[in-house]
Amino acid sequence: MLTRSQLSNLLEQHAQPSYRVNQILDWIYKKRVHSWEGMSNLPSELRESLSADFPLRPLSHVLTKGSRDTTRKFLLKLADGRYVETVLIPASPALYGETSDRHTLCVSSQVGCAYGCKFCASGLDGFTRNLTAAEIVSQILLVEELSGEKVNNLVFMGMGEPLANFENLCQALEIITAHWGLGIGARRITVSTSGLVPQIKKLAELSQQIRLAISLHGPNDETRSQIMPVNRKYPVADLFDALEVWNSKKNQKITLEYILIDGINSHIDHARELVQRAKSIRAKVNLIPYNTVEGLPWVRPTDQDCLSFKKVLTNGGISATLRLEKGHDIDAACGQLRLKKEQGTL
Ligand code: SAH
Ligand code: SF4
Repeated sequence: MLTRSQLSNLLEQHAQPSYRVNQILDWIYKKRVHSWEGMSNLPSELRESLSADFPLRPLSHVLTKGSRDTTRKFLLKLADGRYVETVLIPASPALYGETSDRHTLCVSSQVGCAYGCKFCASGLDGFTRNLTAAEIVSQILLVEELSGEKVNNLVFMGMGEPLANFENLCQALEIITAHWGLGIGARRITVSTSGLVPQIKKLAELSQQIRLAISLHGPNDETRSQIMPVNRKYPVADLFDALEVWNSKKNQKITLEYILIDGINSHIDHARELVQRAKSIRAKVNLIPYNTVEGLPWVRPTDQDCLSFKKVLTNGGISATLRLEKGHDIDAACGQLRLKKEQGTL
């Protein structure tokens, strides 16, 4: 998958006229052809030489799992035999109104993850490799094709740490937002990170108004370090300094994601501390009752405890959502399906 400038350079090397750039971008991103052979207005020698070097579909569909509320999870196979997963989440009338036509796609950015958060399936098997920009963008193209739906909201909350794959992420964002590419508005794209401080500051420099979500999961160093090793490298105070930098460059509220895990981070005192944290950077909070992962000891608190936690936040003046459970029955927490496939238990 190529950006406009990459394609332009490539065609120059092939001594092609410049109008070919638009022709080819149109074939790839608008007409959505699967192969270079399908580009009928290109000279055949050019098609042959490009198809050898730039496959247009670097991943293939393995299986789809859908749950009752029609959240669908797609297991996709990469050219090297590895697997990634992508989740399509339909509009939630409760959140966005009855007539919402929002289709959110949750994409992966890496195979596995090096950050080893204690609650997460993606990190269980360690890190394998970064996804290329083409592999990131192709998740969208493939799911649109399989589902017949247009993705108009995108979250980087699948497998992997997107900010640890910074260059490919930026290249993918360029293709996804460009008018010659997929044309999805930057404001409808959320990048989620476990809190890589230098990369958050770098991402803040990007001209596109993308949204940022932080996997906080603990309001202080003690709680956070217990479940997120990354906190030892980038403690909460440093993270919040970086978020101030983000706020100074962007005008959208940051989202703090907070998984509720029984006996770990779900005490009312944690909620009170979270109010102060969220206030300090004018963030909203997304509460997610923990999704059980096979082989991990953690459990979610009772619904009542989740509601009480949320109440402390709203009473404290923080805008908070308690995520409607979706996809629990299809291993929707990131990385679970792929892990089963690679371990041969799917
Ligand atoms: N690496 C990035 C993005 C991928 S994880 C990050 O950590 O932000 C996307 C979200 O799923 C994160 O908020 C992560 O903490 C959450 N998550 C991981 N395992 C989960 C589980 N078992 N239940 C609920 N949420 C989970
Ligand atoms: Fe990696 Fe994010 Fe999972 Fe942590 S929560 S292990 S950073 S994918």
